[in-house]
Amino acid sequence: MLAFSGDFMKAWVNGKIVPWDEAKIHVTCHSLHYGTAVFEGIRFYKAEKGIAVFRLKEHVNRLFNSADALSMELKFSRNEIEEAVKKMVRANNFEEGYIRPLIFYGECLNVYPENVSVNCAIVISDFKNDKDGLKVKISRFKRINESATVSEAKISGNYANSVLAMEDVRRQGYDEALMLDEDGMVSEGPAHNLFIVKGALLLSPTSKSALQGITRDSILRIAEELGYTAIEQELEAEDIKEADEAFFCGTGSEIIWIKSIDDIGISDEIGEVTKKIKDKYFEIVKGKDKKFDNWLEYIS
Ligand code: PMP
Repeated sequence: MLAFSGDFMKAWVNGKIVPWDEAKIHVTCHSLHYGTAVFEGIRFYKAEKGIAVFRLKEHVNRLFNSADALSMELKFSRNEIEEAVKKMVRANNFEEGYIRPLIFYGECLNVYPENVSVNCAIVISDFKNDKDGLKVKISRFKRINESATVSEAKISGNYANSVLAMEDVRRQGYDEALMLDEDGMVSEGPAHNLFIVKGALLLSPTSKSALQGITRDSILRIAEELGYTAIEQELEAEDIKEADEAFFCGTGSEIIWIKSIDDIGISDEIGEVTKKIKDKYFEIVKGKDKKFDNWLEYIS
């Protein structure tokens, strides 16, 4: 959710920083009709040595890979987008927040977007994650399958699947959805990857229908650093209900512990392993662990 919009807020559109209210599109925007935009979610934090963007290169790489999946040719290089992100963090006065780069087609009502402009916008919000202890429900909606889309691309249209799953479980009084893949194996949440903890073992599903999350990748590395064994493997719904701890992770949500899945209690408070991982994650994003300094891109 964008926390504010006002005269002081700026957006970056096709290479120019413009006032917030000027960052508009036409109703015939192809991406609006057909879900043909790609995007990223990136966070920046107030770190020890200044404001730093977390794993910027990896996010910009994934943005370009997502654009490739739809054969969208951007007129900016990776380096130019990285610089634009940093410029936007400087142009808005938040010390911490969330960055949303979006690549979208221009005006076209045909399904196939021939000779249509490819545009890029970047906006920033100070949105914070304030959820914890989630009541999770496995949605009746399966995760959109890798034979029907490019699962590792952040294509806007894929998120209709996420919204359907969220709507499905919220209507029934739960906080968040978990989706299975077509084979009935655990995939991911609507905008986060899953970890479960069994003793000192961390497990995260390998489902091909799940996004290859950058936070998930960071946690696999952090677990190793903390001396835990972290394994990526196929997981069944039954496996997760027997977990000692479970948590979702993603750029927006960071690390959120799970209280129950399908009404089966997992834990009543944040588990010990989850807490250690979470504390380390925040130490790293705030630049307090030198070993992980290469994950931080300072804005000046
Ligand atoms: N899965 C989906 C569907 C997502 O939208 C996200 C958020 N980008 C994630 C997982 C987590 O990915 P990341 O850690 O790279 O933000």
